[in-house]
Amino acid sequence: MFRYTHKTCSRCHLQQDSYHKVMLNEDGVCSFCTQNLVAPKRNWEQLKNIFEEKIQQAKGKGEYDGLIMLSGGKDSAYMAHMLTRKYNMKLLGFIIDINFEYPETFENAATIAEKLDMPSVIFRQDPELMRQYYAFLFCNKTIHQEDCGQVCTFCGRFLIQTATDFARRMEIPLVFSGHNPDQIFLMGESIEDDPARLLTMEFNMEVVAEETERARKAWHQKEKTPQDRLFPSKIHAQGVELVFPFQHFRYQPEAMIETVKKELDWVPIKRFSKTYIASGCSLVKLWAYLAYSNNTNSYVDFEFSNQVREGVLSSDKVAQFYEQSDKGYEELDEIVMKLGIRNEIMQMLLERKGEKDGLYQYLTQTAHATQASPPEVQTHTQSTLTNRPPHKSDFFNP
Ligand SMILES: [Zn+2]
Repeated sequence: MFRYTHKTCSRCHLQQDSYHKVMLNEDGVCSFCTQNLVAPKRNWEQLKNIFEEKIQQAKGKGEYDGLIMLSGGKDSAYMAHMLTRKYNMKLLGFIIDINFEYPETFENAATIAEKLDMPSVIFRQDPELMRQYYAFLFCNKTIHQEDCGQVCTFCGRFLIQTATDFARRMEIPLVFSGHNPDQIFLMGESIEDDPARLLTMEFNMEVVAEETERARKAWHQKEKTPQDRLFPSKIHAQGVELVFPFQHFRYQPEAMIETVKKELDWVPIKRFSKTYIASGCSLVKLWAYLAYSNNTNSYVDFEFSNQVREGVLSSDKVAQFYEQSDKGYEELDEIVMKLGIRNEIMQMLLERKGEKDGLYQYLTQTAHATQASPPEVQTHTQSTLTNRPPHKSDFFNP
């Protein structure tokens, strides 16, 4: 998400990156583009039929046909629009509050729910447990990846497990998740025919299973209380069907943005760049910075590059996104304070880029200010922790 080198692919904008084996040729085109690495052609008609069959089976059986995970971003907004308007589904919107979302997440989700006349719940997680969890994901050395991708890998599984478990208890048969095709593939949930891709996916899942085991042990060692729900071995709860609409329909981010703007008055959450192509929580900024400090592309960079090669996202738009992307040291400072991992992050940055690293310098300055006036810092922490949108209730049963 942030540029560490000028050596970027002229087509898909990936940066030269030895860790992920992204090399540029003399024309400035990356190895992924020269090999034209794109997903194999799909039988959209067949995939659509599978989707519609699942929906027909679930419809009208209970109070809700499905639970839909809302994040405030374009993907879940588009999915909610399609399911309610095109397929007339009776849905319950589900927003998980991990205590690190931007306020716009809740505002957007509320607007979408209202526009579509869809009841919704905000499922709040214990803030202190979430702080410990994300601090662990960022700092624990046994699960650390060069591009800091472990944060989203584990969190994504935890969120889906939470949503499917909730649906199971509410006797809602389907759970819809708006993950994009790359994310679905990385979660091992993609419908694939291609043997090579199947093999890669299986391999990835074996790695995730091993990492999950390691994470559970490491967590237990550190916190003494097991929290297996944070590190689920299976991505979803039994008895509930998990559906990813974006593996049944072509994923077209730019067209989807236009639809949700027009139909739902949806507003892009421009926290990463003035050019909107993707949203996420505040933790994205921190892992994106850590990937940058380690001279690696992040998985979001790979998603953009895949979408450019697939022809669903314009190369110019991605270039503009990077030009206008904003690291925001002040915000990063607040996040590391809120997570209580300031020293750990400073140490990490020091080991990578040394004292010249921009965030390291910023944190050093604010650390000095902290020492000079400790009470003020306490107030600052306090306000950050409570700086969250108001919730109508922890659990609103519609
Ligand atoms: Zn490329």
